Amino acid sequence: QVVVVGSANVDLVVEVPRHPGGGETILGGDLRRNPGGKGANQAVAAARAGGAETTFAGALGTDESAELLLASLERAGVRTDLVSRVDAPTGTALITVSPDGENAIVVAPGANARLALTDAQLHRIAHADVVLAQLEIPLGVVRAAAAARRPGAVMALNAAPSRDLPADLWDVVDLLIVNEHEAADLARTGGSPEGLAGVLLDRVPAVVITLGAGGSLVAERDAEPVRIPGKRVAAVDTTGAGDTFCGVLAAALARGLALPEAARIAGVAGALAVTRPGAQDAVPTAAEVAEESAK
Ligand code: ADP
Repeated sequence: QVVVVGSANVDLVVEVPRHPGGGETILGGDLRRNPGGKGANQAVAAARAGGAETTFAGALGTDESAELLLASLERAGVRTDLVSRVDAPTGTALITVSPDGENAIVVAPGANARLALTDAQLHRIAHADVVLAQLEIPLGVVRAAAAARRPGAVMALNAAPSRDLPADLWDVVDLLIVNEHEAADLARTGGSPEGLAGVLLDRVPAVVITLGAGGSLVAERDAEPVRIPGKRVAAVDTTGAGDTFCGVLAAALARGLALPEAARIAGVAGALAVTRPGAQDAVPTAAEVAEESAK
């Protein structure tokens, strides 16, 4: 079982000729409303990966956006029976995309900022093999999720978006998943992925650093770090690659795979996700990942 504790947002996306400055109005293309948010994206990825039941423990409002997100989660096979409904607008990201592909984003956290784990959610977490969280929710929620896990379960933290972690949070993380920027921020230094992983391993027992087209680096205490090469693909939209990676990795660990093999499968899924537009809609199925792996 996987429980994903995290955010859900509706992404409101408009293509613009250029990003507006202060006080300026710009005409863009047609509005798109996409299900997103790191937590919901990762839950969709874990469920599509198969082999492990996936629950999303997050908070939605009672608006139309909430229905869009529930539909997307359910389509992927995520259990939504414990999703909290709160008296705040569902999280929303306002995204403008310029012709060079650069995004400008404003997030209104709304319901995500009101997430507080219920007894039922904590009970489900206590039965999980892998608990996966990110940083788009209050840090106290991550702490509570970690405290509720059973002995032997993996508390995985995707430390995104980048922010400082208090000392007591480091202590409860079993597996840290970060991209190179987040790794450098947390390590408070630059350098090679191997160097960054070395610094981070002083604080957590295992680290995976994702390297975009370069694949990933798996580092565990008392083992040599392992580089997992990237799959060669034609990138169309890199949104959701990191979330796909995290969700698929969590599901593979819940199935009992070792971390390097789990990261290899997650990397194939991440590569397939960049060949398709969108976040949740871009997540491949287990069959598609298996077929691509065999190539
Ligand atoms: P984030 O989106 O969080 O910055 P990455 O860009 O590192 O995360 O992508 C996560 C994973 O997805 C990578 O580790 C890799 O396995 C896969 N991936 C991402 N971009 C590409 C790409 N252009 N080609 C192949 N694989 C990719």
